[in-house]
Amino acid sequence: MDDLGIKVAFVTSERLYDAQRELIAQVFGCPVANGYGGRDAGFIAHQCPQGGMHITAEDIIVEIVDAHGQPLPAGATGEIVVTHMATGDFPFIRYRTGDVGTLSAKACACGRGLPVLQDIQGRSTDFLVAADGTVMHGLALIYILRDLPGVKAFKIVQESLALTAVQVVLETPLTAALRSHIEHGVRARLGAAVTVQVAQVDAIAAEASGKFRYVVSKVDAARLYGGAP
Ligand SMILES: [Zn+2]
Repeated sequence: MDDLGIKVAFVTSERLYDAQRELIAQVFGCPVANGYGGRDAGFIAHQCPQGGMHITAEDIIVEIVDAHGQPLPAGATGEIVVTHMATGDFPFIRYRTGDVGTLSAKACACGRGLPVLQDIQGRSTDFLVAADGTVMHGLALIYILRDLPGVKAFKIVQESLALTAVQVVLETPLTAALRSHIEHGVRARLGAAVTVQVAQVDAIAAEASGKFRYVVSKVDAARLYGGAP
């Protein structure tokens, strides 16, 4: 489908991983522009050809706040909070998105004056907390499973500091070797004493929001907010 004359593919809703961006660009023969928003808040930012995630500041105010709701300066990482100026019937005032991000202190090379979200790190629950207190992005565990042959889909749920559950959809029955590989990979990152439950399932259910998430942590990662970039 790379000869249809498509100029750009806009994607939104879930986190866009580099491998997905490359695949979409290859299949449709066009660049990929990421969009960021929420079902409640509407579109918040769109990517320009230079790669900057420009906030649609014509009708939305985006703030990055710390754990106490205090605004943080550009360059600092915290929760993304939005105030929508075009929702008169039901005003959204400093609405907490639950997403973690950073405002850029620099102007984008494309020349647009709209402010730029330098980084959207995903939902606060995308972060895992190791037994020793180290906070890491869910990607650290996604890498264990993503490239394994025969793995069609997976979901990792950190139930507590001591227990992480992994659901996998496989083309063939789960082998002891694969189970062991996943257990070792998770323990290497979260702690040697962590219990890892690996279960083969027929399908991964979507979240209540309708989105699919690869990693969910039920451990409070609120300590993240307000940290330095
Ligand atoms: Zn730009």
